[in-house]
Amino acid sequence: MNGKYTIIGVLLSIMALALLPGVACAEDDVLFQVSTIDALLQGVFDGFYTFDDLKTQGDFGIGTFDSLDGEMIALDGDYYQIKADGVAYPVQGNMTSPFSTVTYFKADQNIAIRNASNFTELSRQLDEQLPSRNAFYAVRIDGTFPYIKTRSVPKQEKPYPRLADAVKNQSVFEFANATGSVVGVWAPEFSKGLNVPGYHFHFITADRKAGGHILDLQVDEAEAKVDITAGFAMQLPTTGDFYNVDLTQDLQSELQKIEK
Ligand code: ZN
Repeated sequence: MNGKYTIIGVLLSIMALALLPGVACAEDDVLFQVSTIDALLQGVFDGFYTFDDLKTQGDFGIGTFDSLDGEMIALDGDYYQIKADGVAYPVQGNMTSPFSTVTYFKADQNIAIRNASNFTELSRQLDEQLPSRNAFYAVRIDGTFPYIKTRSVPKQEKPYPRLADAVKNQSVFEFANATGSVVGVWAPEFSKGLNVPGYHFHFITADRKAGGHILDLQVDEAEAKVDITAGFAMQLPTTGDFYNVDLTQDLQSELQKIEK
């Protein structure tokens, strides 16, 4: 065999290996974020990042839609829109998001949760086991939950209100003995202004028909899976209201009222 062709063959094999799907790449541990929470708090609800593009940044995460039209949850590569009627709809690729956080989920750590009677107690049990408070984590909990309280928000009209005013018209849903998945993010304190410091969880039922942004929940016995996402990437809007909003203020107290 001609030596030159052997070398070309080896090079092509190496290139093919590098392109194989599923081969670990650096992006696996990047938490990718669209816009900032402080922009969303001030009513920057203009979607600009398409879900076709977002799907290339992760198979797992949470967020919202153009005009604040519901709660977004993504898991196992499937994206859902939980509208104010509480129903989960499949997301179309040409829809856009004004705020989202996604990653390619791959668990690094399992945390056993036992008898967490509410959101605070679940947070405490997770806090005890997480390796550091100075990192971003993606968190997933599958199971049957004795109680979950969620909300979703109705689509807003321009001129957009602040998020605190928009959620005054939120719909609240209560689930008893609901089987499904909790999907979310833990963001460190130093990320305030960018994301939601602490835990931010959304829920979807196992039949993928209902869910929302979690306000409270009870966990009897479950395994929380944690993906340590050491990389952090952010895409800011170049259109819409973002360039003109004042992002110099501390909005943490306003955020806390909205999230829980
Ligand atoms: Zn949320």
